[in-house]
Amino acid sequence: MSAGRPNTQWEKTLAETFVLGFVAIFALLFFGIVVVTIRFAHSTSKDEHQKELQKKKMDIIDKHFITLVRIECPYCRTLYSSNVPECPNCGALTKKILYPKILD
Ligand SMILES: [Zn+2]
Repeated sequence: MSAGRPNTQWEKTLAETFVLGFVAIFALLFFGIVVVTIRFAHSTSKDEHQKELQKKKMDIIDKHFITLVRIECPYCRTLYSSNVPECPNCGALTKKILYPKILD
């Protein structure tokens, strides 16, 4: 009995090692898949976030551009922002007057 005991112990250890090895391999594989999936999801969400940010940036630039652009009134030479439909000094609808003149 004492001669067979180390052998079974060794076999048991070997079996345990194999099982542990398999479990470790599967765990590693699973972990790898999870990491890849999370990374992929994260990168796509990051892309969407970047797109959203770019859109917001463009919106801000657009708004600032509109407020930065100055229109000169052809009647009284007053400079005012393009988001105002008419000259604040004389009330002339400069936008409607300026655009056909540019096109001609
Ligand atoms: Zn004016």
